[in-house]
Amino acid sequence: MSEDKKVLQEFKLETDNELRFEVESKTEKVYLTLKSGLAEVFGTELVKGKTYEFTAGAKVAVFTWHGCVVEVKGKTDVVYTAKETPMVMYSNCHGALEFMRADAEKENKRGPIAMIVGPCDVGKSTVCRILLNYAVRMSRRPIFVDLDIGQGQISIPGTIGALMIERPASIDEGFSQEAPLVYHFGHKSPSTNPTLFNMLIQQLANTVKERLEVNKKTRSSGVIINTCGWIKGPGYKQLINSAKAFEVDVIMVLDQERLYNELVRDMPNFVKVIFLPKSGGVVERSKTARSEYRDQRIKEYFYGTPKNSLYPHSFDLKFSEVKIYKIGAPALPDSCLPLGMKADDHLTKLVVLTPNAGILHHILAVSFSEKDDDDIILSHAAGFVCVTNVDTDRQIITLLSPQPKPLPNNILVLSELQFMDSH
Ligand code: ATP
Repeated sequence: MSEDKKVLQEFKLETDNELRFEVESKTEKVYLTLKSGLAEVFGTELVKGKTYEFTAGAKVAVFTWHGCVVEVKGKTDVVYTAKETPMVMYSNCHGALEFMRADAEKENKRGPIAMIVGPCDVGKSTVCRILLNYAVRMSRRPIFVDLDIGQGQISIPGTIGALMIERPASIDEGFSQEAPLVYHFGHKSPSTNPTLFNMLIQQLANTVKERLEVNKKTRSSGVIINTCGWIKGPGYKQLINSAKAFEVDVIMVLDQERLYNELVRDMPNFVKVIFLPKSGGVVERSKTARSEYRDQRIKEYFYGTPKNSLYPHSFDLKFSEVKIYKIGAPALPDSCLPLGMKADDHLTKLVVLTPNAGILHHILAVSFSEKDDDDIILSHAAGFVCVTNVDTDRQIITLLSPQPKPLPNNILVLSELQFMDSH
């Protein structure tokens, strides 16, 4: 068989079948074309005859409700057709949400607020994407909230955010990231600073509620919330807090019956808790793969994607031109706590930082805060920069930034996340 034939495969999919493939190779690309019939990738319809390009790390499922023929060209790591998928159940959930939206529209009420929960690697982000795509295909304008700070889909890792969904996700690049509302948390896992995480979730929930108030269409369309896989002990408490903050109506629990039962027990009766199976196609990600994903997201923030390159700027600023803060001071022993201060208050204390070698390669959030005080903690982020050099002798810091000088604000907040700019 010639090399070309080896890499060009045609698949005929029956009704309700799913073609799954993964791209591993960092040097090769895989091209997908719908030849006939109807098919979708995580809820976004494929355009017949259009070729979609996938690069390293892509894990794709092409699902068809009516049967189709697709062509896959290039070296895939795995490629197979699955006959069993939970898509009918996911579509039923969409149907139920749609029913609630129609009701909300009629009565000018708030539409459903649905939260997707479950352990790691069960397809939470994918279910969110499917539900949002189906909603927007029905002319709804839902808000997508992503609380998954490590493996989220809005902005860069270390943040939580919200995005109004106005069109289906692009097959190869996900949802368009126009004007997301982003809060800087600054860590890879919520367990590093649960107090701050809770405060930010409440703040995000308040802002989302305000947006629902002012936009009628969005109000009836509701909200879909993605969460992270931290579901045990304090992680479970965190989920309950998030559910309360956003005043959720529906919780969809993927894959774990224990979590489902706990939520049925602990949630008030008006919250519908639904159990959903995970798809057999969801791919588990190792610790290394998760860390690579985070790096990739930060790289894309500055340099864009192969299809849509960005050209970041690099510039110097004097130490005196910026104010850098860190959130969280070292803990004081109980006996030394000033009167009226709680033991975990230090977790949300602003500490001024003089630029030093320790912040090299770190991400800094550019705050929207107008005031130079505690407001900084709860202000959303205007964007992010990366420290590429600190010259303590000349008192100059070099930043990689999506925008040229000047920065929109001189208040910067340190993130634990780092990015090695190899360009
Ligand atoms: P995390 O806990 O890390 O947030 P998650 O539960 O949100 O993970 P997803 O990110 O939705 O899981 O899915 C993990 C990976 O599996 C993704 O790369 C996704 O593209 C892939 N995936 C999901 N569903 C399928 C499917 N049906 N077929 C093939 N791949 C899939």
